[in-house]
Amino acid sequence: MQKTYLDYNASALLKPEARDAILAAMDDPGNPSSVHWAGRGARKIVEDARVAVAHHVGVKPDAVTFTSGATEANNLALKGFGAPDQPVRRIVGATEHESVLDVVPEAEILPVRPDGVVDIARLQRMLADRDWRPCLVSVMAVNNETGIEQPIYEIVRNAHAAGARVHCDAVQAIGATGGLNMRERGIDILTLSSHKLGGPRGVGAIAVAPDLELHAIQRGGGQEKGLRSGTENVAGIAGFGAVCRAAPGYAEALQSAAALRDRLEEELLERRPGTVLIGQNSPRAGHVANIALLGVPAETQVMALDLDGIAVSAGAACSSGKVKTSHVLSAMGFGEEISGCAIRVSFGWASVEEDLERFLTAYLRMADRLAVD
Ligand code: PMP
Repeated sequence: MQKTYLDYNASALLKPEARDAILAAMDDPGNPSSVHWAGRGARKIVEDARVAVAHHVGVKPDAVTFTSGATEANNLALKGFGAPDQPVRRIVGATEHESVLDVVPEAEILPVRPDGVVDIARLQRMLADRDWRPCLVSVMAVNNETGIEQPIYEIVRNAHAAGARVHCDAVQAIGATGGLNMRERGIDILTLSSHKLGGPRGVGAIAVAPDLELHAIQRGGGQEKGLRSGTENVAGIAGFGAVCRAAPGYAEALQSAAALRDRLEEELLERRPGTVLIGQNSPRAGHVANIALLGVPAETQVMALDLDGIAVSAGAACSSGKVKTSHVLSAMGFGEEISGCAIRVSFGWASVEEDLERFLTAYLRMADRLAVD
């Protein structure tokens, strides 16, 4: 059976540059903290990658700390903000990834409007309600389930005017758009994941503005200037650096991915006029479609498409493999009848026309068979 991969938001296909860099780094012995020749070789791999990642997001290399992925980076952003034991205030967007939303139970939730964009007037009111605690506002650049973009400039402007700082989970933004300039946008803390950009899984980074200091949330050997103890994942970091370095060369491929998404939505609207396309009129990144097929549970759709060799997901992929109702769609005001029946189709750097054709054929056949409308 032909396999069709349309789940780039869960994990992008590995780019050849990453594979080459990983394999080369695997053959390089040494611990980056060792002072001998082997350690120095590993250190060079890590530092070269740091330069590439930093360049990709418009910051100086010493702003970047490598982590095991964006989940760890997001935890560090939220828990490491402020001095240890200092009470801090955190305001987090209602459609954030669980690695932001579920980290600190006392965080205040910033709602989104029905179009999925955070309610700026509400943010202003929350910020006006000042207290003495340092405040962190955490809003992602691009949503992983819907592709909806948040107005980061406006969020930063409002937060800074009130003396608050901004964390931005840019995991999907760097995958979807190729890059995002942290300094230019005035973001104070940025978190990244390599595998959404076509690098290896299990490696990510956090970048912190020069005038801000986070405190470590794990103790150990003091690597990464004490902010993230633990021997660096040298091969993973090498792969991450390689995809950042190669990113400009993929700009055209990302444009093609966006064109495929647009064609998918046009075809669906034409061939099934009642199709519900979530976020269709919202500011949105170009590579993802979120499609509800009323009356057919999302898991059923994912399994039916899988039988045809097509990999898509029901909302966000989660570790248990089970699907739960999307908190993103719920926050936008969708009821179970829509959010329980929505699948996510995401294109990426290696997506081609045939992927779209195969998806359409399988999807329309499934919809004819299963849909209640
Ligand atoms: N934030 C967003 C927006 C994501 O899409 C993901 C991955 N699903 C993460 C954070 C977590 O990243 P990682 O897989 O590197 O832990």
